[in-house]
Amino acid sequence: MFADQDKDDRPLAPGLYLVATPIGNLEDITLRALRVLRRADRIACEDTRQTQKLLNHFEIRTPTVSYHMHNEGTRTEELVAELKQGARIAVVSDAGTPGIADPGGQVVTATLAAGIDVFPVPGANAAVSGLIASGLPAETFTFHGFLPAKAGQRKTALEELPRGEITHIFYEAPHRILDTLADLEAVFGKAQHVVIARELTKLHEEFLRGSVAALHAELTARTSIRGEIVLLFTLDQTENSSEKKKTSLAGEVSALMKSEGISEMDALKRVARERGIGKSEAYRELQREQNRLR
Ligand code: SAM
Repeated sequence: MFADQDKDDRPLAPGLYLVATPIGNLEDITLRALRVLRRADRIACEDTRQTQKLLNHFEIRTPTVSYHMHNEGTRTEELVAELKQGARIAVVSDAGTPGIADPGGQVVTATLAAGIDVFPVPGANAAVSGLIASGLPAETFTFHGFLPAKAGQRKTALEELPRGEITHIFYEAPHRILDTLADLEAVFGKAQHVVIARELTKLHEEFLRGSVAALHAELTARTSIRGEIVLLFTLDQTENSSEKKKTSLAGEVSALMKSEGISEMDALKRVARERGIGKSEAYRELQREQNRLR
């Protein structure tokens, strides 16, 4: 039956098809994805050159058009106009499931608003692949996409995560993973258990499981950190990290102001120096702590 899939000439119903593609291993394409990509009138791709490699591999000759974060608005209008004429349009991202940390959402909303069917064609997704092999609870999880690139915002995002039996899942870039692990250690303590899922489904797939301090040391010792990363962890119900027990930055600043009779700014500079962080980072931290108390 599988061998006959290519000969399957069942017509495709008109509408928008969100087609998941592999995240590394081409064998992870589904039979249905291949059929939809073959039978669609057009494939809207995050990067046409990237998708063309996949299409060439499977000898699919459907015309492509670009659909990415910079042209999502205008392209959505064009695609919906075609859909209104009864077209079958497939949407793919560079890898994985469209709409998950990838373009797709806007055309789905517009298609539904036009009263046209939207069909999911499920397949590979890095977050779920990392989760199911992480060893962390998979009953309740939250996918957060990428953490903010700015250090202060990243720390705030971590501090605001809910605790308890929830697995938190993030996408992370290799050049930022060490900074993120350092922030995790600062916010939740050295012993916080984390899982790093790297290069999922690829030749060099790797899972690192252990304390944040151990994983930071392990990655620091490498000459380079490459590949795509999913970062996962759960947080204890209680706030038991050593960092939480430490005096808050605001507390240190106000103690110095009292004991030394210096201004808030001078005290802040001193605390920043002692903690080995920049003045602006210390200032942001102070503001965050003050906001939490309000
Ligand atoms: N839509 C995709 C999905 O369904 O997983 C995610 C796209 S997002 C722009 C790309 C990020 O996903 C990467 O930076 C990385 O964090 C994660 N990712 C994608 N492929 C991966 C892989 N093979 N192994 C680990 N992480 C991966």
